[in-house]
Amino acid sequence: MPISMPSADRCPFCDYLAGLSPASILEQGEHVAILVTRWQRGQGHVLVIPVAHRPTVMDVALAEERHLMNAVRRAARAIVAAYDPGGVAVWQNNGVPAHQTVPHVHFHVAGTLPDGGTRAGEVPRLDLDATDEIAERLSPHL
Ligand SMILES: [Zn+2]
Repeated sequence: MPISMPSADRCPFCDYLAGLSPASILEQGEHVAILVTRWQRGQGHVLVIPVAHRPTVMDVALAEERHLMNAVRRAARAIVAAYDPGGVAVWQNNGVPAHQTVPHVHFHVAGTLPDGGTRAGEVPRLDLDATDEIAERLSPHL
């Protein structure tokens, strides 16, 4: 049985990469992109995604794997360099029961908060000026 996926008429991540809707794109290469999420759950919270639309981690192409992991590592190092957090959290969800909300595979990478951990539940949606500031802080360290 296939896993239960969030529904979406359009993929917001594909729209960001195509320039159809605005986003703070930290890096966009042939295989992988790094976006600053508007829903910050930790310090310097970014999303690492394949450029090609892949719904879940089970759909990632073999040729994309090393690019994704490389970007996760570089993002984690950039967050440490830019924010000096006590830790870095990396997480990835597949299917509605796992709390996946966008049907395009994404790896969350976020520095832990000063009190530890990351924010769960509702977080405020930042405007693009705020996410651009985060991108500018991370960018020199990628
Ligand atoms: Zn997509």
